[in-house]
Amino acid sequence: MQLDHSYATELPELVSAVDIKPLTHPKLIALNQSLLKELQLDPSDFEQQALIESLFTSNGVLNRNAVAQKYGGHQFGQWNPDLGDGRGLLLGEVVTNEQKRWDLHLKGAGPTPYSRFGDGRAVLRSTIREYLASEALHHLGIPTSRALCLIASKEPVYREKPEQGAMLIRVSQSHIRFGHFEYYYHSKQMDKLQALFDYTFKHHFPHCLEDDNPYYSMLVEVVKSTAKLISHWQTIGFNHGVMNSDNMSIHGITFDYGPYAFLDDYEPGFICNHSDHSGRYAFDRQPGIGLWNLNALAHGFTPFLEIEEIESALQLFEPELQTQYAQMMRAKFGLSESMSEDLGLINEWLELLQADKRDYTQSFRLLSEFTLDSDNQNIADFFIQRDKASDWLTNYRERLIAEQSDCISRQLTMKSVNPKFVLRNYLAQQAIELAEKGDYSMFSQLNEVLARPFDEHPEQESFAKPPPDWGKAMEISCSS
Ligand code: AMP
Ligand code: MG
Repeated sequence: MQLDHSYATELPELVSAVDIKPLTHPKLIALNQSLLKELQLDPSDFEQQALIESLFTSNGVLNRNAVAQKYGGHQFGQWNPDLGDGRGLLLGEVVTNEQKRWDLHLKGAGPTPYSRFGDGRAVLRSTIREYLASEALHHLGIPTSRALCLIASKEPVYREKPEQGAMLIRVSQSHIRFGHFEYYYHSKQMDKLQALFDYTFKHHFPHCLEDDNPYYSMLVEVVKSTAKLISHWQTIGFNHGVMNSDNMSIHGITFDYGPYAFLDDYEPGFICNHSDHSGRYAFDRQPGIGLWNLNALAHGFTPFLEIEEIESALQLFEPELQTQYAQMMRAKFGLSESMSEDLGLINEWLELLQADKRDYTQSFRLLSEFTLDSDNQNIADFFIQRDKASDWLTNYRERLIAEQSDCISRQLTMKSVNPKFVLRNYLAQQAIELAEKGDYSMFSQLNEVLARPFDEHPEQESFAKPPPDWGKAMEISCSS
């Protein structure tokens, strides 16, 4: 395996070289074969023995040039300059034959200069959650970091209680966060900020260098990709939970998974993070927080852009979000043309779901079965307010007739955007509890189903079910 180390070698002052601290009795639990193929990596380098050696021996390919990146970030609105890779290391970059660059990053690698009071470790529970969710989002068509492999161990790692230590290798275009730019700007290290921009343009936004104003083009691109990402989250029902600016990627991908959740019942104000007492990162506040974070990022652009230019770039967020959201929502309702009444119709459906506490994912899957030549009673029966639902279905019918949509093809397209399966928290929790006892069967089954979330999978019908009562009340630990 050959890795490139452009970040470490071109920005030596922005990283610290760190050796991976081996886990005792490591065991390769999951290897993402399809991702391995996409990255054009040799599977033999990722067999248990070879992988452990290249990670845990000082001259191993994955260890010898590992570095921790320095960054800062706004956590719950407060600036924190003391962040950085505290338990993760950038192992290097895979460059494919097509010259596409992918970071390999090891989470749970042991202490680094940025660990502060932490142990540098990750627990099995949180690595399973990240593995499952990042792959689930990817297969739902939502930009995200990915999971390449998971290594478990029996090494005790202490959180609220002793847990098992584990490691995850994740993959993304880069690990450059909003907080990288914020840090070098706020600490007034302008030469390092310049070097970071130069690197970022060269490797990740080279097309912007062809424009008259590359900084403006780059900021616009980050604004738009972030708006699009959050539209995806709002339409699929994903609550990230810790949208600190150090957890925001400049590539507009879902990044740094913590106490996230997919909505079960449709509850716009849902807060998946139990430490988030004010609801700053509630589901329906994600668009506003996205813009808040972009504003924080934009401070790093101020040495290079006029204030008016920054404002003009940030002003693109809202219209982009609205356009993307409307387009994605219309697709969920099987509406291919845009008509003036659409948003009203969409909002009325959401209000019904909210009032009756109905399952978000299930509702759209059911609506995908709507036909023009039946009374669609099964859909009305999904609601407590059946009459209201019937009225809505009558309006929906008229709307479909207005664009003369073909029933069969509409049903098929709706089922290709409305998943039958999402990673419900109670399912992840069951898989984790089994894994902690050494049984990874449910983890594998979930991975398999979530890789094709739009298919029926009749053998795994139970994974499509909303949570039982215990699963609704579940509190997900925020420690990871
Ligand atoms: P997170 O909440 O995972 O996004 O992490 C916020 C900051 O805390 C980052 O700088 C992490 O590197 C650091 N951090 C989180 N967990 C640990 C840990 N167990 N040991 C050391 N640093 C950590
Ligand atoms: Mg983080």
